[in-house]
Amino acid sequence: MASNFIEEIIEKDIEIGRCSEIVTRFPPEPNGYLHIGHAKSLFINFGIKEKYKGKCNLRFDDTNPTKEEVEYVEAILEDIKWLGLEYDQLFYASDYFEKLYKKAIILIKKGLAYVCDLSPEEIKAGRGTLNEKGKNSPYRGRSIEENLELFAKMREGAFADGAKVLRAKIDMESPNLNMRDPIIYRILRATHHRTGNEWCIYPMYDFTHPLSDAFEGITHSICTLEFEDHRPLYDWAIENCEIDFAPIQREFARLNITNTIMSKRYLKKLVDSGVVEGWDDPRMPTISGLRRKGYTKEALKDFCGRIGVSKANSEVNIKNLEACVREDLNNNALRVMAVKNPLLVEIINYVGDKSEILQVENHPNREELGKRDISFSNEIYIDREDFALVPPPKYHRLKPDGYVRLKGAYIIKCEEVVIGNDGEVEKIRCSYVENSKSGQDQSGIKVKGVIQFVDKKTALPIKMKNFQYLLKDADFVGQDFADRINENSVTVSDAFGEMSLANSAFGERYQFMRMGYYIHDEKSNSFGEIVTLKDSWKG
Ligand code: ATP
Ligand code: MG
Repeated sequence: MASNFIEEIIEKDIEIGRCSEIVTRFPPEPNGYLHIGHAKSLFINFGIKEKYKGKCNLRFDDTNPTKEEVEYVEAILEDIKWLGLEYDQLFYASDYFEKLYKKAIILIKKGLAYVCDLSPEEIKAGRGTLNEKGKNSPYRGRSIEENLELFAKMREGAFADGAKVLRAKIDMESPNLNMRDPIIYRILRATHHRTGNEWCIYPMYDFTHPLSDAFEGITHSICTLEFEDHRPLYDWAIENCEIDFAPIQREFARLNITNTIMSKRYLKKLVDSGVVEGWDDPRMPTISGLRRKGYTKEALKDFCGRIGVSKANSEVNIKNLEACVREDLNNNALRVMAVKNPLLVEIINYVGDKSEILQVENHPNREELGKRDISFSNEIYIDREDFALVPPPKYHRLKPDGYVRLKGAYIIKCEEVVIGNDGEVEKIRCSYVENSKSGQDQSGIKVKGVIQFVDKKTALPIKMKNFQYLLKDADFVGQDFADRINENSVTVSDAFGEMSLANSAFGERYQFMRMGYYIHDEKSNSFGEIVTLKDSWKG
């Protein structure tokens, strides 16, 4: 059963016998790191492969040597691997440079392409607008022989960069601007990350893409909506370049997310200008950033599945993505305790310099995740926020003469509040209820509040990082990206973590109880916030 319009097209094609095996591809340009929008495209293409037992290739669309780098190729490969996606074959559009060159010659020979000497500005001006027809180039009438010779010379390097281009000869009066004699080759002296200086002419996207799809036997070339207007040119190239198998291009809506900009060009600016630490900064919407932030591939897949595939552009609220992450982590993250604003609590009836080890569950609903040791002694830390000298009504945490349960340990009662010279609460003195140990409580005391704590003797100093969105939402500020940058998107705090964190592996994800989900980040040697504990979204 088809679950979206693309699958409907595919099932129809299978039914009418247009193709027996479905072949898709993911065609990134290696000019930056992949972002979550690419994840959507990846899951669509690889999802089709899986559902219809077909194939999916990875093809680097590397026809723009000034912007492309090996670093990006490697990062893209790593991200795809991390997502757990296995492509059938790996290609580079640059593998096809010779083949593409030959196809261009076919077009010239058919009188369907010509060498044009107009400058890029003149070509642009001559293209016209939606309301105004384009003008034929004065070079449009060049003979086939002359065009063949000039094109060969372009390849040989006889002309300066930008001096000439090869244009498809289609229709300068077409209502579709893309069909007004588009440029299909340009002269550009730049070292290509794979072909080096072998070429000084490079094919344009609209020529390269359909033919590369055809060379690989792609049955369904799925791309984003902005290419819908390019489809006639896609079909034109396939029709005129002596191709055996005709792929079809179909378009879906690109993923847009609130507070997020998905454009490699813009993300590169953030990296180059030092606004972020790098492409994998946890505030970046890149796959590497989200990975470092602690998002799981399962959550990304779940999110992409839930938003579905549509034909209409829209913007998804980022809270939907966070909800998927939260759900995954709620099921899978280990629980630990930490205290950010420590308030010392002396347990006055816990006599002597002893301490005890308590075993607590790593996860409330998953016994198989085992238990860990925490310690308890006569001095512990609780969070200042969990104590109120003058409590509001219905306050269930600690207050003078009040009781509270320490998570995984005992019930304590506040006996005395010590105020420091500055007038602030310096520490508190509590008694603990000896027979109230978690799991074996025989005290009969009913407490409503449960708070986390850390034993002072074994407390581990840790750093915790909290994030806000790097970009303010476009609804509230100008569309100019520079104005949208949130200057305070990272907060680093000192905290005390429970002793088990001394053995924490980098990359481990935790629920810091009552605080949020955090990952042990290797690069910063801190615990970085993955997502808040609860959704604050009321929308
Ligand atoms: P960017 O503007 O971020 O550089 P792009 O479209 O130029 O994006 P490509 O590397 O050309 O990036 O994209 C590879 C594939 O990913 C294309 O098929 C493209 O349509 C798809 N893609 C890119 N951005 C999104 C998005 N936001 N949502 C869904 N698919 C996307
Ligand atoms: Mg692109």
